[in-house]
Amino acid sequence: MTKILGIIGGGQLGMMLTEAAKKMPEHISKVIVLDPNENCSASLVGAEQIVADFKNREAIIELSKKVDIITYEIESGDSDVLKSVENNAEINPSPETLKIIQDKFLQKTFLQNNNIPVPDFIEIDNIEDVINGLEKFGYPALLKSRRDAYDGKGNFKINSKNEIQKAYDYFKGQKLMLERFVPFKMEVSVIASRNTKGEIKTYPLVENIHEKNILRETIAPARTSNEVSEKSEKIASDTMNVLKGAGVFGIEMFVTQNDEIVINEIAPRVHNSGHHTLQSGKTSQFEQHLRAILGLELGNTELIYNTIMYNILGNLDFEGEYKKIKFSGKNIFLKMYEKKISKPLRKLGHLNIVGTDNQTMDKLLDELSQIKNKVEVESI
Ligand code: AMP
Repeated sequence: MTKILGIIGGGQLGMMLTEAAKKMPEHISKVIVLDPNENCSASLVGAEQIVADFKNREAIIELSKKVDIITYEIESGDSDVLKSVENNAEINPSPETLKIIQDKFLQKTFLQNNNIPVPDFIEIDNIEDVINGLEKFGYPALLKSRRDAYDGKGNFKINSKNEIQKAYDYFKGQKLMLERFVPFKMEVSVIASRNTKGEIKTYPLVENIHEKNILRETIAPARTSNEVSEKSEKIASDTMNVLKGAGVFGIEMFVTQNDEIVINEIAPRVHNSGHHTLQSGKTSQFEQHLRAILGLELGNTELIYNTIMYNILGNLDFEGEYKKIKFSGKNIFLKMYEKKISKPLRKLGHLNIVGTDNQTMDKLLDELSQIKNKVEVESI
């Protein structure tokens, strides 16, 4: 029996989920996305769209009545509203899982209670808590907003006593936590999946390079020892075991100077650091997510080709329409998200540079450095 799929959010992740759904007509007959931006990326590749805010209660109820199964590309959905429409449609990952993940403090408490390694952290209720926490953790430390923070926007790094008040005022009225600074040697992630029947699979560890707190490059596989890769993948599957929700999850971690692994955060959805899977192996993370929420057997997660993913980000200098970016190469795959307007650091597309001829990672990095300037975003 085919199902109608609903997605909360129709940006690039919703777009690539829609494209994957279209390749599975025996399982999914239609996709409907809920997104506030008319002509969102997903609608341009064939999804129907309800134009409304992600948290609009009526719109979520309307979506739930039109579809069999709801999933999301953003973690800021209202888990209580989602819970209330569970009678209309199946929701995966479950609202319970979403509720834990979307609050960084609850998420880290949950992981810690399940013996999964995370940086030291404390809950913050007032400025005295910050002062006491800094005495414990030392400088620097990160004051973090517990909710609705992404791309580093919800963090304030406190470097000295003088910055405490400024950091606290920056988050006026928000629920906060304080976290020990981890002097990591590498940021990595594992794309993990769990289907509704409890089957768990992880993709190999990848390495993430950020610029201004936004992911710029993902190197698959990560340039680490086998021990580090195995340890991280084990932590990811242990996490899926306790977290229970069905779907693909992006698990971001730090590798410390002593090759310890701690989880930075979990995204309950397909993840930017998994875009390489569109070409690097047999099952893309988008297909895997659909397989997981539909209760199908999970696909093969082996990495067949060394691959580098490079994000095409809006230029810092301007906001507005931009020149169409075209690029092709034998082993280079460009994916643009068809967004009309560029904004500083907005994710507009990505390139996968794939080692189809067994190229080494150094060779692929070399190739990337030669083409970066050809995919720069320029105003019209
Ligand atoms: P987040 O939005 O919490 O994922 O953080 C954005 C970035 O801030 C991460 O990718 C890290 O580079 C950095 N960061 C977050 N938490 C820590 C930490 N405890 N120690 C060191 N760097 C961190």
